[in-house]
Order: sequence, then C-alpha cells, then structure tokens
Amino acid sequence: MLNEKVVELLKQQVNKEFYSAYLYLDMSNYYIDQNLDGFGNWFYLQAKEEQDHAMLFLKYLQNNDVSVSLEAIDKPDKVYADFGAPLYAALEHEQYVTSLINAIYEQAQAVKDYRTCQFLDWFIKEQGEEEQNSRELISKYEMFGKDCKGLYLLDEKLGERTYSAPSLSL
Ligand code: MG
Repeated sequence: MLNEKVVELLKQQVNKEFYSAYLYLDMSNYYIDQNLDGFGNWFYLQAKEEQDHAMLFLKYLQNNDVSVSLEAIDKPDKVYADFGAPLYAALEHEQYVTSLINAIYEQAQAVKDYRTCQFLDWFIKEQGEEEQNSRELISKYEMFGKDCKGLYLLDEKLGERTYSAPSLSL
C-alpha cells in the first residue's frame, strides 16, 4: 500500500503532465499559425513526450492497485508577444514541473517509500534533461533567431527533431 499523501501527489502529477502536453500543443499551434513549422514540430513532439509522462504516472499507480479518476485539464491561456516568448515560458514551466517532482520525492522519502523514490529517479534525471534542452533552445534562438535568415535555418533544424518514447519499464 502506498502512502495516502504520496498517492495524492502522484494522481495530481498525472493531470499536471497532461496539462504540460496541452500547453506544448498550444505552443506548437502558435508556431504553426506563424508559419514556423519546425518550431511547431519541436513543441508537437514535446507534447507527445508529456503525454507519455502522464501515462507512466498512471501506470505506476495502477501497478500499485490505485484507482485513478481523471480530472479536467486546464486550458492553456498564454498569449505570446514574440517568437521567443514560448521558449522562455517553456523553461519556466519545466522548472515548475521539476519542483513538483521534487515535492513528491520529498514526501516519498519522508515516509520511507523507496519504491516510489526509485520510480521517480527516472523523472529527476528527465527533468534535468528537459531544462537543459529548453535552455539550449533559448540560446540558439538568441544567437540565430533574431534575423530572418537565421530564424529560417533554425526552424528547418527544429523540423528535423524526431521522437522516441521514453524507455522506462514499470
Ligand atoms: Mg513531463
């Protein structure tokens, strides 16, 4: 039996990961509307990754005999002032998600729930990578994205991103 507080936080995380997917899909839509399909692709794949994160939390709960009822997902309501704005918003969002994962980890550790700690280890590492990817994208945009030619080439580059589902066995 998992600890009640840990279960509650894990359930909330299912919803938060689906919200992340929704937020990134909204960013993808923004770029596609602006004819920056490469940026759109990058965020579309980001959305798929977040969906997979949600499913991993869901599966972990189910594997531990926890029944999960799905809650409403918040509407993404951000308005972007320029092409760089979603990139900064994405980094800020990932830092927020890192804080959520850390909070679950802290709770699991406090009640000696080592199984959940081990499950979360993958996400601790993943968040490090997500923040790094996000910072790198901002650097590239700051260096190359401010003139039309650079932006065009960066968009082409981001269009090449492909996706492979997370390799985490539960
Ligand atoms: Mg995630």
